[in-house]
Amino acid sequence: MDTTREDGGQRRIDAGRRDRVIGAAAAAGLVGERHVAAGFLDVDGVRGTVAGLRAAFGTGVPVLHTFAVKAAALVPVLRLVAEAGMGCEVASPGELALALAAGVPAGRIVLDSPAKTGAELAGALGLGVAVNADNFQELDRIAGLLDGRAGAPTLGLRVNPQVGAGSIGAMSTASEHSKFGVPLRDAGARERVLAAFDRYPWLSRLHVHVGSQGCSLDLIAAGVRATWELAEEVNRRAGRRRVDSIDLGGGLTVNFDDDAVRPSHADYAAHLRAAVPGLFDGGYALVTEFGRSVVAKNGFTAARVEYTKEVGGRRIALTHAGAHLATRTVLMPDAWPVRVDVHRPDGTRRHGPSEVQDVAGPCCFAGDVVARGRALPRIEPGDLVVLHDTGGYYTSAPWAYNSIPRPAIHGFSTAGGAVRFATVRREQSLAELTAEAGGEYADALTALGGRL
Ligand SMILES: *Cc1c(COP(=O)(O)O)cnc(C)c1O
Repeated sequence: MDTTREDGGQRRIDAGRRDRVIGAAAAAGLVGERHVAAGFLDVDGVRGTVAGLRAAFGTGVPVLHTFAVKAAALVPVLRLVAEAGMGCEVASPGELALALAAGVPAGRIVLDSPAKTGAELAGALGLGVAVNADNFQELDRIAGLLDGRAGAPTLGLRVNPQVGAGSIGAMSTASEHSKFGVPLRDAGARERVLAAFDRYPWLSRLHVHVGSQGCSLDLIAAGVRATWELAEEVNRRAGRRRVDSIDLGGGLTVNFDDDAVRPSHADYAAHLRAAVPGLFDGGYALVTEFGRSVVAKNGFTAARVEYTKEVGGRRIALTHAGAHLATRTVLMPDAWPVRVDVHRPDGTRRHGPSEVQDVAGPCCFAGDVVARGRALPRIEPGDLVVLHDTGGYYTSAPWAYNSIPRPAIHGFSTAGGAVRFATVRREQSLAELTAEAGGEYADALTALGGRL
């Protein structure tokens, strides 16, 4: 059910199939005049991507592949990736609740929240969820909670190998001053890690996540290698395998330039095998935590064009694709550019003469532009603009600015020929939106009194 095709040895998303899906979505009214924006997720594509990830690591080493929930915090998506063979990486009580609601067994969940409360830790330990501690204070807190408890889940310590940042500072977790994990190159830190393993017999895992978008395979491999070397040192000192699993994190960069899947999970695994061969000798169980690379290229967003106009000699399309659903792209356009295609109201793609245009959103601030000065087919009112590669983070990070309802997310499959859709999340209603905005407390402030 792989929906990508080989093209000169590189995997590519099938653009023709995607156009067919957009046509079917327009015909079904999933996006258009009534529903002005919607997200779409390729179910066949996600299945194929997870199969590719599993194949990339092979069967030589035990691996638990977890899906980083923050990349698509949607219960049906978590159930889909779980059915395809992944567990979940969660980083908050909410994400843990979503993974459990999806039916993911506790033993296939890894908890990585940076600031876990005592209650969050106690809950995770009680459920049997693996925990990666961020720092020494958290280790001590876990020790207190474990006191007298039998059968603790796998417990690990996150390290920061301080190998440097990638091209996006905010996405780089292994820089000198990153807030995550124990900074290995700081004076005395390595010794404190070794001492922690001496003190806490239940500690058995090291965890590293070098960063996300913008981190090269070389940078990720350097961070993993430093972590593996530390595991070897702990084990040498102990004279036995104190560290018996290594959690490699996630962070494979997504190509936002075209339909090529590059780098692939196979590229990642091959790179690691070359840079850290000891990782694959069977002595360590491995955990991965991929988010964006599982879903990003398996999703797109479609939104209706309401009006077009000429401003300062340039055509601007006023659309329903804005900062509320492409927040990072609008606020940090250089770091998060998205490709845009133009489709007619019936969903067929417009080709042909290009004109430099802006694609603006519906939010009330001047910067609400998802694509600026882009050469695109001439956009007409009623058209659909399609933002590509938005299957990760875009669906899970809507912004409530301007109280615009969260759009629906639809999954689709073309297995068996016809395009079939399933609702993943319905469009937020105005009643739900009002409730979220304190609707039930409408008189709370006036009732406080104090009227002069
Ligand atoms: C966000 C995150 C991931 C997933 O990162 P992607 O770039 O989506 O693959 C994995 N592990 C940790 C600890 C994270 O914070």
